[in-house]
Amino acid sequence: MALTLQGRIAEVEERIIRACAASGRDRSEVKAIAVTKYVSLEMVSSVLDAGLMHVGENRWQDAELKWKALGDRGTWHFIGHLQTNKVKDVIGKFQYIHSLDRLSLARELQKKAAAAEQDVHVFVQVNISGEDTKYGLPPGSVPDFLREIAGLDRIKVIGLMTMAPFEGDPELTRPVFRGLRELRDELNRLGVTKEPITELSMGMSNDYEVAIQEGATWVRLGTVLVGHEEGS
Ligand SMILES: *Cc1c(COP(=O)(O)O)cnc(C)c1O
Repeated sequence: MALTLQGRIAEVEERIIRACAASGRDRSEVKAIAVTKYVSLEMVSSVLDAGLMHVGENRWQDAELKWKALGDRGTWHFIGHLQTNKVKDVIGKFQYIHSLDRLSLARELQKKAAAAEQDVHVFVQVNISGEDTKYGLPPGSVPDFLREIAGLDRIKVIGLMTMAPFEGDPELTRPVFRGLRELRDELNRLGVTKEPITELSMGMSNDYEVAIQEGATWVRLGTVLVGHEEGS
């Protein structure tokens, strides 16, 4: 039987609580982003009504109508690959960018954020699994990348983001999530950023409990939380 939105929220909440308990973490350390790319404007409105404050979209073209109608009601996260020529559309609208993966993008974010007199909170996307099909910097190049962008004063690097390969058994994603946490800890040991990096954006519908056990501070949940229009 298909669950209602309230039912899904309750179920996810219970599973987050359980994953935190299993790993000795406090529930307050984990925030859920409702990924609304598969659902309508009406559903995004219901999601905000239900008290979920963080909304994630991965393409500006798909997010535009939703943002224009509801942008002032939540905190918006850009979670998809960001083309440099789309930066102008998302700066000032999305408070968090989860997909910084190259210097040219950092420079454009800096430029547009400076023009808007705003800071932008970013996660550096890292390709921990090493799959060709995934965006993200190879882990070994992240320290130099962070040093290169350190002078871009509008860019606040708060965390790292990764995507794990889809696995039938979510347990198999654990090394990917653990790898991102270890990279964060190593970067902080090296002290490559002025402020320590605290956030880890990792875990989706299929694998968020494992990600939480490995230290996720933001989970990005589409299907399991807000559903997938057509057939959910
Ligand atoms: C679509 C998407 C999600 C959410 O996907 P689900 O599996 O439906 O939870 C999370 N992160 C990114 C980057 C996405 O593109």
